[in-house]
Amino acid sequence: MSDKTSAVAASPSGDPWLLTPGPLTTSVATKEAMLHDFGSRDKKFIEINRRVRSSLLSIINGQDDFVCVPLQGSGTFSVEAMLGTLVPQDGKLLILVNGAYGHRMAKICSYYGRAHDVMEYPEDQPVSISDLDARLNEDKAVTHVAVIHCETTSGVLNPIAGVAEVVEKHGRSLLIDSMSAFGALPVDASKIRYDAVAASSNKCLEGVPGMGFVLIRRTALEKSKGNAPSLVLDLYDQWVQMEKTDQWRFTPPTHCIVAFEQAIREYEAEGGVDGRGGRYASNCKILVDGMRALGFETLLPDHLQAPIIVTFHKPTDPKFDFQNFYDRLAERGYLIYPGKLTVADSFRVGCIGRMGNDDIRDALVVIKETLSEMGVENCAPAAA
Ligand SMILES: *Cc1c(COP(=O)(O)O)cnc(C)c1O
Repeated sequence: MSDKTSAVAASPSGDPWLLTPGPLTTSVATKEAMLHDFGSRDKKFIEINRRVRSSLLSIINGQDDFVCVPLQGSGTFSVEAMLGTLVPQDGKLLILVNGAYGHRMAKICSYYGRAHDVMEYPEDQPVSISDLDARLNEDKAVTHVAVIHCETTSGVLNPIAGVAEVVEKHGRSLLIDSMSAFGALPVDASKIRYDAVAASSNKCLEGVPGMGFVLIRRTALEKSKGNAPSLVLDLYDQWVQMEKTDQWRFTPPTHCIVAFEQAIREYEAEGGVDGRGGRYASNCKILVDGMRALGFETLLPDHLQAPIIVTFHKPTDPKFDFQNFYDRLAERGYLIYPGKLTVADSFRVGCIGRMGNDDIRDALVVIKETLSEMGVENCAPAAA
């Protein structure tokens, strides 16, 4: 253990470590990139914007068939824009749901008055490919299918390659929310077939929050003119304008974009999806092993766990009060996350962001000390 954990831990910029699903700890250089002002029509900024869009396409090997449409706002803005722009008003979306982000897609469809159905699974299970196959055989009205890559509600990994295969077999269009996985787990367009994938600047790509983006098959986007019921969330219009003028339609988040360029450079230097995904996988393993050694139990078995965020059952020991645990960890420089499950009392610890294996080890030491200060002796959950 390094001696910094005996005092207050801090990231290199002196901030608490964010063991959360985002926003996340970013590098000093990424934050420093924001110490400049850019005019949105300035050549330098236009070049940066171009490079960011093209790097994002490279991540999915989509340079030939896909376009990158960035959008102001948090990740949900991009998900809503993806659904609103690509599912036509007379289309029907089938949503594979196993957590809050799938439910959110259904809510978006309700707002928009888009026909939709959900196939719902428990939060601790992946969605089912064979059920989907049967459903698409039955329901010929479904034009599009939506799936969440890593359902951040629990951290469960969904089988997007299998989903893509079934959707392709039935000749429908697949839309993926890869928000919390993009950059750490592959969504390679040269290997799996989909029409769009949405993600954001501030999760595994380790940029700052403020923008999302949707990578869209060009032929699908070309057909989507007039679909979007919202001006600001119309990705077709955003794309056409950006291609024509090199400009965002409305004030771009300039500082976020220049920071994103720096973050993407660091991502590429780390070895892209293999390097970034590899670091997160070892962070995740160290976290899970360490927490199990303290007596905690994970919600998910290891083979369903994405290396993004881990859900732990809340111990039944009456001395374990989550708010107290959270506050004490925050005082020591670590921010964890409450649970979002409907099925079990839980909390979450993220393993993404600019943190290395040693930072996770340090966090585990502080967690152990905190439990002992609280007098918690047994971290096991209630027997199932
Ligand atoms: C983070 C996240 C989003 C977007 O959330 P915002 O709070 O709007 O950035 C969407 N889907 C998933 C799976 C996510 O993890």
